[in-house]
Amino acid sequence: MNLPHLFSPKKIGSLHLENRIILPAMGSALPDQAGMVTDRLVDFHVARAWGGCALNIVEVSAVSESSKAPNTLGIYDDSFMLGLARLTEAIRRAGGKSAIQIWHAGRQTRSSLSGHPLLAPSPISCPVCREEPHELTKGEINGLVEDFAHAADRARRAGFDAVELHGAHGYLIAQFLSASANQREDEYGGSLENRARFAREIVVAVREAVGEDYPLIFRISAREEVPHGLTLDETIPIAEIMEQAGVDAISTSMGTYASMQTVIPPLDVPIAFSVDNAAAVRAKVKVPLIAAGRINDPRTAEEVLAKGKADFIGLGRAQLADPEFAAKARAGDYDSIVKCIGCNQGCVDRRLYAYKPISCLRNPACGREAQYVLRPAQTSKRVLVAGGGPGGMQAAITLGQRGHEVILCEKNDQLGGEFLVAGQGLRKGEIAEAARQMGRWAQKEGVDIRLGTEVTPELIEAIDPEVVIAATGGKPIIPPIPGIDLDHVVLAREILMGSREAGEKVVVLGGGLVGVEAAELLAEQGKQVTIVEMLKSLAKDLGGARKYFVLNNLKKYGVRLLTNTRCQEITGHGVIVETDGDIEELVGVDAVVVAVGYQAHNPLEEYLKKSGRAYHLIGDAQKPRRALDAIWEGTRVGLDI
Ligand code: SF4
Repeated sequence: MNLPHLFSPKKIGSLHLENRIILPAMGSALPDQAGMVTDRLVDFHVARAWGGCALNIVEVSAVSESSKAPNTLGIYDDSFMLGLARLTEAIRRAGGKSAIQIWHAGRQTRSSLSGHPLLAPSPISCPVCREEPHELTKGEINGLVEDFAHAADRARRAGFDAVELHGAHGYLIAQFLSASANQREDEYGGSLENRARFAREIVVAVREAVGEDYPLIFRISAREEVPHGLTLDETIPIAEIMEQAGVDAISTSMGTYASMQTVIPPLDVPIAFSVDNAAAVRAKVKVPLIAAGRINDPRTAEEVLAKGKADFIGLGRAQLADPEFAAKARAGDYDSIVKCIGCNQGCVDRRLYAYKPISCLRNPACGREAQYVLRPAQTSKRVLVAGGGPGGMQAAITLGQRGHEVILCEKNDQLGGEFLVAGQGLRKGEIAEAARQMGRWAQKEGVDIRLGTEVTPELIEAIDPEVVIAATGGKPIIPPIPGIDLDHVVLAREILMGSREAGEKVVVLGGGLVGVEAAELLAEQGKQVTIVEMLKSLAKDLGGARKYFVLNNLKKYGVRLLTNTRCQEITGHGVIVETDGDIEELVGVDAVVVAVGYQAHNPLEEYLKKSGRAYHLIGDAQKPRRALDAIWEGTRVGLDI
């Protein structure tokens, strides 16, 4: 059998699970404003249950009105029961099992969201939310313990097969556990036993409410990575206390809001980075251990289990990217798995910074399952896709899957476009591999791939397609600066692709994503690098977690950062810049790297407008944006033709 450990059954308490793949709780923003279950949330979970996931742990659900927030599930009164029961029933019908994560945010939210003061063990503000919480009284603590017990009882009555207590990520239970947030001097503060008292009381009360046999999972951040935060030295005994109190499994994660880069680690973090934490906890408890953290390949999951580091694997983003992850892994069809590349663009960045429901750069159907259904084309058409970047490839694959006759032309000698360029940045090999994988999928779908072929009006006439998809991408903007045409001026993409070299002392013009990544690559090669950026901060187009790593690296390598700065002129060996009216000449410069952005490149537009042929303009060819936009538009057009 493929992956014998991953696909062997195991129990959590009384709950029998068919395999070791768990969908961990992830705040999706798919519930409605009032915290009710929606069709989209149901569809999201049904897709993963159909895909073979053994246990879906439904996202954070507020146990008290004092923790409610828009688009966040509630379980604090019976009005939520109907929707929750509908959700559990749908997951069950799809062959899956369900748990729900019950939670209180404590100080790690904003009072404007719930309309209630923030609550916490001590009146210390969360370093991210920066709002002073109310210090809970003994009576209020007792009330919250009861809220957790009532919520767990509702979960059981709604048909959930298990409940997870959210003791991780810096929320209320974790605030009691962690000396970083708990400075109480009563029986809930001080010693580890005292700090664990609130969590233990919740476990005991929940157990009493749901009965002896009902499975309980306790989630904890094995390391918080904040000053005075939890470390393994404390987490392990806490896990032991929770086991003694009656939980049936421990689930380890990492971090708090103040160390978000460990909660939802981007591609900068190694694969399976947190598994050793799980193993350290597992060595001390008898109940099963659920490990998570950047595991995106079933063979990695198998190895973790085979080495005895965990009993179950939490695959969150891996199953956002591919709801059929488990089924494909079971079949040994590894190359067809749409792998999470740790970009965070479509999931956490969209949720946290754009306030939209989670989805996935690689899988636009995520969170919109009913709108993105792959159906065979009613009539097979000949479709010419001009451009083999991420948008063009995605369109070609989707069209091929639906039975169209697809010709994909790429002017370079390999597919991938800007995805391939981006994949050359440090730690971004997974993006380059995703580009290559998409090329293989296009081939598998029978797409006629023509490399080294630029689409021209003549070629379109010769192929005579019924539909043209112009996915010709963008081209770098060349700013009108005196000296820009000197020999030592190169494009960032030339540096990233290795087609041009820079000397020892380099000035990068532009501090957006491409500029900082080119600078990081050059600095890592030992070059002396300065970034010149007109805006007041760098990497504005990067999400928080990625920015944390990239900016830290620039600092580590000693890259000089000039913000609020304009380049006035490039000379033979210098760059003249102006910062707030002050002029400076950067001297001894060997190379100037241009990374000031892209503009749309659509050389076919005029012809297509006049030709009367059906055509679609997607991705950067329409307007330079992120790979996410190109892939999503490629999918959409691929489904609509
Ligand atoms: Fe993974 Fe990126 Fe998709 Fe998020 S958006 S699930 S990080 S591939």
